Amino acid sequence: MLIDFLERMSGNRERRNIACRAVLGRISIFHPCSLSFLILFSLLQVISPVALSDEQGAKQGEKFDPAQLVSPTRVVTLGTGTPNILPGRSGTATAVVVNQDQVYLFDAGSGFMETLSQFLEPGKQNIFPTSPSYPEFMYPTFLNKLFLTHLDSDHILGIPELLLRGWVLERNEPVKIWGPKGTEQVVKGVVSAYQPDIQHRLQSLPISKGEPYSGVVTEFDKSGVVYQDKYVTITAFTVEHGSWKEGEAFGYRIDAPDKSIVISGDTSYSQNLIENAKGADILLHEVMSEEGLAKLPEKWQHYMLAAHTTTRQLADIAKQVKPKSLVMIHPLLFGKPEESLEQELAGHYFGEFSLANDGDVFE
Ligand SMILES: [Zn+2]
Repeated sequence: MLIDFLERMSGNRERRNIACRAVLGRISIFHPCSLSFLILFSLLQVISPVALSDEQGAKQGEKFDPAQLVSPTRVVTLGTGTPNILPGRSGTATAVVVNQDQVYLFDAGSGFMETLSQFLEPGKQNIFPTSPSYPEFMYPTFLNKLFLTHLDSDHILGIPELLLRGWVLERNEPVKIWGPKGTEQVVKGVVSAYQPDIQHRLQSLPISKGEPYSGVVTEFDKSGVVYQDKYVTITAFTVEHGSWKEGEAFGYRIDAPDKSIVISGDTSYSQNLIENAKGADILLHEVMSEEGLAKLPEKWQHYMLAAHTTTRQLADIAKQVKPKSLVMIHPLLFGKPEESLEQELAGHYFGEFSLANDGDVFE
């Protein structure tokens, strides 16, 4: 494991930077990242885990055989909304489920956990892992890894629910959270704000003590691999989203045993996304209505074009990425009906696409 880890670090400067930050974040007396091999070796003897985790107990570098998967890797859109109030659309959150075993959650918008109730219905019960203690209920202890694209509230309002509701439903460990600078502040703030609830439940409920209501945060500010286990390699890449600075807004690429998935995060037209998304099977991309945009006051049009992607721009992106499946998420409609969004895209793009709803499953 160690040798493989070091090989990866020597092979990619950005990966090395990310790994170093995670290590150094825990032991602040060491810096900068260009430590000698011997010091790094010593560090790795005592620090675990680091950003490149081996959570599943497999040897690093040993990948899961796709032929052994009990089900295809699935993408579940638990929340497809925006800051606007839209019927049936919770705050943005996307789950990638591998082998009906591990779940990787990307963003945690408001109310996204309610969508899990759909997966108690007949025919949909085999999407997520089964709760070991209460198989007849939805006890989402499997939501224990969260990757944040950026820190706009419509992507993080569900963090308190993820941390605290999951804990009350018998998650016995803190949620591991990866995100840009500021993520630690948000998570600490949530834990601080909810102390009355936490203290009350610690004293009264037969649930785990310690701090499983909390989150263990790894921050990063550059493109690179942020997580790896036997199922997936997860790579963050920078995107441009309004006034967020370089290294504060990200998309993610998830390379699973049987397919690759890219989630755009919130972004304007991004050449970096196009480069990172090439070869992806499923591209989930944010979108806004071009017709709706044209009806906004000029100052809002200016802001939106710097922060988001029009249907015409998305068609151009998809033509270059050539995904097997293009999925629109986070639709900004500006009063136009959803059908018009699909018509706009169909006018420029002839590949397969769909507009995701909460609870949709893509595989
Ligand atoms: Zn957003």
